[in-house]
Order: sequence, then structure tokens, then C-alpha cells
Amino acid sequence: MSNTETSPDEMVCGAEAPAGLQVLTPRDVPLGGPRAMTVRRTLPQRERSLVGAWCFLDHYGPDDVSETGGMDVPPHPHTGLQTVSWLFSGTVEHRDSAGFHADVRPGELNLMTSGRGISHSERSTADTTVLHGAQLWVALPQHARFVDKTFEHYAPPTVDGTDHGRWAAQVFLGSLLGSTSPVVTHTPLLGAELRLDRGTVLELDVDPTFEHGVLVDTGAVLADADPVAKDELGYLPPGRDRITLRAMRDSRVLLIGGPPFGEQIVMWWNFVGRSHDDVVEYRAAWQAEIEGKQAGDASEGPFGLPAGDPEAPLPAPALPNARIRPRG
Ligand code: MN
Repeated sequence: MSNTETSPDEMVCGAEAPAGLQVLTPRDVPLGGPRAMTVRRTLPQRERSLVGAWCFLDHYGPDDVSETGGMDVPPHPHTGLQTVSWLFSGTVEHRDSAGFHADVRPGELNLMTSGRGISHSERSTADTTVLHGAQLWVALPQHARFVDKTFEHYAPPTVDGTDHGRWAAQVFLGSLLGSTSPVVTHTPLLGAELRLDRGTVLELDVDPTFEHGVLVDTGAVLADADPVAKDELGYLPPGRDRITLRAMRDSRVLLIGGPPFGEQIVMWWNFVGRSHDDVVEYRAAWQAEIEGKQAGDASEGPFGLPAGDPEAPLPAPALPNARIRPRG
């Protein structure tokens, strides 16, 4: 989806390294629109901006869309990233300028690669009553920042067990619990939904070069004996080859991971770049491309526009006054 904050901060995202589990609490961000659906954002934030290449995590719902209005995000641009949509409930209609028009459904990976530039729209469908899910962004490494725009879909099988309590998992990126996603990524990544009955202890063999994040959607867990509450993101630094999850209640979590990204990025609005100048350039290019565009208009520009979209594209907010100095 789009970051629809009216005056988004520009963030320089570098590496930090705590010793043990770090609990990241969400902040509420209204997505915009007439009734302003709100999301819980755990990445990026001051305390941590990246988990592997994962650079953005919005978690939302369960929302009664008759109250919140659901998701209604007109065409907006992205650069330098991939978006991962993962739903627990509801359906989101996706249209992008690479020519893909898809329904995003629960338990299925929808991975959009912006490469050097894409635009897309995202709207919950008319038959959606409860909307519940997450959207994550993956920063593209230097060697893949300018690849072609594309969109991939993968419905991972459910793997399950009853060894130390009942659990089930869907691995949408990377490998875990004997299940491997066929989706190729530009840096090593892990992404999985895990469901644990209360009392279940699940031992996960993981890559020790990865750092990990445990987002608790429902319930509460201990991650290597440290508590992570509902809606929190527990961060685990690299150096462990096993993560033990203990469910304090019936719980559903998203587990993300990857080796520390190792590149400094600059994120502003819906753009990922390497410098303030990149962001200025991307913003100017988008504004130039959408000037005078109405709903449904096509574009031959570098971002392009989704075909037949019912709304006009979103203009970018104003840039921050302060020029961001690199750090890290
Ligand atoms: Mn988006």
C-alpha cells in the first residue's frame, strides 16, 4: 500500500545491533481516505529500521470495513523495493503498471517488484467484510535496484505438526520447517506465517547469519524465553541456529528474517533510494508523469499507470525542508 502520511519523515536506515531480544512497539498510522483506515507500523522506527532487507511492516485489522472503509489506495509509485502483501482475512484488488491485475487473498504471497519504478493501486473488494493482514516492503540491494517491474504470486502449502503441541505454518519466502518457497529473492529472506495452539513449543532451525523478527498478530509468545505481546515485533539478532517459540495463548505470528542488509538506504514516502538526491529525483519524476492525469489515463513514463484504474494517481507530499545527512 502507500505511505499516506501527509508529511512523512525522510529516514536514513543503517545498522544497529542490540545484544538480546528487542521489542519494537507499533505506532498507529492513518492510511488516509474518507474514513482513514489505521495501520500499526513496526518498521521502520527510530529504534530499528531493517530486519534483513525487510524495511517496512504495516499490520492492520481485524477491521470491520463497514466502519473503517477498508483499503482504498489510488495509484501511487514505488522505487527500489518489493512489496509483500499477506492477508489473514478479506480480499484486496491489486492493479499495477506492469500489467498485473490480481486479487490478493489470505494465505497467498503477492510479491510486487518495483525495480526502478512501478505504480499500483490497492483496494479491498466489495465482498470483504473483515480486513486483516500485513504489508511488508523489502529493500532491493544495489545490484537489483533497477531491475524491471514485475509481480509474482505463490500459494504456499501448509506444513504442520503435533510434536510439542499443535502448530501449522506457511512459508512464503525462504526455507523453514522443511518447506521452501520457490520465489527467488535478491537477498536471502525468510517470511512465514506460524500458528501455534496455546502451550505449543516450536523449535525452528534457522540460518545463524540471519537476523529475525517475530510479529505477533494474535495471542502472545515467548521467543527464546523473551515475551512478545500482540502487535509487537520482537527482533532477534544474528548468531543463533535455533529459535524457540512458546505460545502463551493460541497465537499467530509472522516470522521474517534475512542477513543484515549491509547497505544504507534512504526511505521517503513510497520510495527507497540511497541518498536524499535519489528521493528528490524520484519525486520529481512521479509528479511530472502524473501531471494532468485523470482516472483511467495511461502513461508512457518510467513509472507507468495501472490500466483502467477508477481513480486518479496520488500526488507525492511535499519534501521535508531539512536535507538528511547520511549516518552509520
Ligand atoms: Mn504501495
